[in-house]
Amino acid sequence: MIRVAPEAIDALLPQTQCTRCGYAGCRPYADAIVSGEAQINQCPPGGAETIGALAKLLGRMPLALNPVNGVEGPLTVAQIDEDRCIGCAKCLPPCPVDAIVGARKQMHTVLVEACTGCELCVAPCPVDCIVMVPRSSLTSTFAVPGSHVNRERFDAHNQRAASRARAQSDLLSAHKKAALAAAT
Ligand code: SF4
Ligand code: SF4
Ligand code: SF4
Repeated sequence: MIRVAPEAIDALLPQTQCTRCGYAGCRPYADAIVSGEAQINQCPPGGAETIGALAKLLGRMPLALNPVNGVEGPLTVAQIDEDRCIGCAKCLPPCPVDAIVGARKQMHTVLVEACTGCELCVAPCPVDCIVMVPRSSLTSTFAVPGSHVNRERFDAHNQRAASRARAQSDLLSAHKKAALAAAT
């Protein structure tokens, strides 16, 4: 069996970060392929093309996409029914590429040019006002974001999330210290 670095496998994945492969994102799936835990046929957004590229890279036979992980389909984007949006902001954190804009108690909207079609915003919406539509049905044409753009936006999203978590933790510590100081 050919040994390949996870970075080389990750470079062939669409970077949709949809988790349909059963892992928390494209890079964890790449790591699982390297360790032998995952097969090369678990990425529906990449479909047959990605399976073929992985098979070639790893010197393996291509496999059919595992239906347990999903089916190949047209490229989609999320659309928010802005009349029904209640501005709860629950769709913001799950978006791996920060493609939804809006503030609490305000209408939210999707940046079509950044949306990877991962569907991760759909379930958290309490009023079911997010639907996935084929890109081909849009009246305006937007370039489909490439995998390198998706990866950059995902990395930036993770950095922002980590920075927010650190700031919250620092604030909590400061409040605890202030409370202790006041009690002594
Ligand atoms: S695009 Fe989705 S299914 Fe494919 S590797 Fe990335 S996270 Fe997994
Ligand atoms: S807007 Fe929704 S479907 Fe589009 S990338 Fe963000 S979470 Fe995924
Ligand atoms: S989760 Fe739904 S209702 Fe809440 S802000 Fe997002 S689109 Fe609007």
